[in-house]
Amino acid sequence: MTQATTIYQRPAELLQHLIRFDTTNPPGNEVACINYIDSLLQSLGIETMLLEKYPGRPNLIARLKGTGNAPPLLLYGHVDVVPTAGQNWTHPPFGGELIDGYIWGRGALDMKGGVAMMLAAFMRAKAENLSLPGDVILCIVPDEEVGGLAGARFLVEEHPDLFAGVKYAIGEFGGFTLYFGGKKFYTIQVAEKQCLWLRATLRGPAGHASAPIRGGATAKLARMLTALDQNRLPIHITQAARNMFEAIASGVDAPMDMVIRGLLDPAQADNVLEMMGDLKWSTGALLRNTVAPTVIRGGEAVNVIPATITVDMDARLVPGFTVEEMLTELQAVIGDEPEIEILNFDPGPGDPDMSLFNLLEGVLQEADPDAKAIPLLLGGVTDGRFFAQLGIQTYGFLPMQLGESFNFTSAIHAADERIPADALPFGTDAIYRVLGRFGG
Ligand SMILES: [Zn+2]
Repeated sequence: MTQATTIYQRPAELLQHLIRFDTTNPPGNEVACINYIDSLLQSLGIETMLLEKYPGRPNLIARLKGTGNAPPLLLYGHVDVVPTAGQNWTHPPFGGELIDGYIWGRGALDMKGGVAMMLAAFMRAKAENLSLPGDVILCIVPDEEVGGLAGARFLVEEHPDLFAGVKYAIGEFGGFTLYFGGKKFYTIQVAEKQCLWLRATLRGPAGHASAPIRGGATAKLARMLTALDQNRLPIHITQAARNMFEAIASGVDAPMDMVIRGLLDPAQADNVLEMMGDLKWSTGALLRNTVAPTVIRGGEAVNVIPATITVDMDARLVPGFTVEEMLTELQAVIGDEPEIEILNFDPGPGDPDMSLFNLLEGVLQEADPDAKAIPLLLGGVTDGRFFAQLGIQTYGFLPMQLGESFNFTSAIHAADERIPADALPFGTDAIYRVLGRFGG
């Protein structure tokens, strides 16, 4: 056996190799990293397929044959990472160094760590001739961090036949530990919000700035931004939010459980959020549609009153909501004078299909008897939204035991991204167990 063919036994080392490919997106440059993964798979005699929308940005697909007793299971992950510019790193972001028990580098958590786990579990299944209930498809994509045009979106739109019959997938974002009220939970992502980008246009009379006109476009801008700052859209308790907060409530002691259940009562939710400090923003975003004005354009010259001002807004919809419902709520806040244009909408998955959840939680409990899993509703979006268009339910399941002081969500996309080295064999082993059992 060569180093390459046995590297699946050393997933932490595998991650170190993956981090050393600088796949900062933009521009991505994922090809060397994907070719490396391709060579590892081929060293075990696994057939692979490379498909690209844009030159130098391939997607890799490989498939292991199962017994046909279960629909195929998809494992997918992205190898692009977000930029590190302007950040202060203790150890080089593309060094992949193992120091103090951690592997340091961009992508350690999001999500080359997860890719290393999936790849190692997949290679091990082949090397050890694991009996698989159904086919297992491994899909390594570029371009998750900047919209997926070269990656998951391309595959779903142009090669949906590759995923025929797939019902469930393992992907990001989840598996990491979270602590509430002194209790440890493992997240398993089953749902995400939907991303809607809007542009509002405000118009008014233009003219010479020496003779100001009241009530023009700038005044309308001020009114609209003030309204957005001072109002929130209504609370909606979706099935995904209910599943998540019920699971947390059932795992903590009184009176914390009552407080968390209060989030699920629209009449109390805002009062409970007010008690949560800075957590109220991210938690509240799981319970309502949100709108954040981000890009404001207007005016060309200091002595000319602008006739139009545009405001780009990033709106996020809770699962199951339509654009029309969202716009009705928005107009109740900002009125109907701003002209609203839809720049982009990626519909996300609706109510989660929880069929695989108990199996995943059971696997975690074998590895860590204290494990209690919570079905996570994510405030952001993942490639899961594209696969959802094919009817595929993703479970974010990249198991990592992190210390209580280690905050996963603030460590990703930040300086000093790192992962405990022993999280890699832990997660690989959990995924490997799932591969042997997903049929029932
Ligand atoms: Zn990611």
